[in-house]
Amino acid sequence: MRILLTNDDGILAPGLRALHRAAADLGEIHVVAPWSPQSAAGHSITLHDRMTAERIEVDGAPWGIRVDGRPADCVKLAFKELVGEPIDLVLSGINHGANVGINVLYSGTVAAAAEGAILGARAVAFSQALGRTAVDYEASARRCRAVLDVLLAGDLGPGHLVAVNLPIQDDGPPVGVRVDRQAVGRIRESYAVQAGEKGRTWYQLTDGYEYNAPSPDTDVGALHDRYISVTPLHVDLTDTRRLEALRALPFGEVPL
Ligand code: MN
Repeated sequence: MRILLTNDDGILAPGLRALHRAAADLGEIHVVAPWSPQSAAGHSITLHDRMTAERIEVDGAPWGIRVDGRPADCVKLAFKELVGEPIDLVLSGINHGANVGINVLYSGTVAAAAEGAILGARAVAFSQALGRTAVDYEASARRCRAVLDVLLAGDLGPGHLVAVNLPIQDDGPPVGVRVDRQAVGRIRESYAVQAGEKGRTWYQLTDGYEYNAPSPDTDVGALHDRYISVTPLHVDLTDTRRLEALRALPFGEVPL
């Protein structure tokens, strides 16, 4: 099995390195990841600038290819130029921070996996929620691998995309694994506002956001209850429930 390993935290991030160790015996692993941290890059791609890619070593051994682009760029480039098709499995992460609820849309980790799914691979995005203590990525990676084994033996076909989120580690191991939908509730968040020179005002999004009352059957709820959350995603954003309602509108009257 040919595997592409990527992330949005940068090619030397501890989460990626731990996931590499945990998945090493699954197949031929190729690391193609961003040069610099790209968290919250979403599914952006580089269109107007050129990118470079460079093979790097870690501890004197070949490690992977760093790309000065976005996470989705790394995956596209890996498929088309740097690794070559077919790639059977794209693993993204382990991200430093959860990617649940609406954050799924901002996440570069999920976007990288989604790009893999678009290109026809099996794709899984792994993220570790942050607590008070430092993340033990070896423990995270062990759990990611165990979940991945279940997915690979079961329902993970070409083009399938799954998000796996691990709960905070402060209070011991997860209590189980739950398959849930993505929460769509609003986030409570705020900006730090600062007056600058020449009457300029600076705005910075604070990282102290909170999810509104998590419903129990969502990814946010699962993490809240200390479960590993598994969510099948797809890249088709169509709201199929509203197709008929929109078709019933008088678009026939639009002057052409
Ligand atoms: Mn990240």
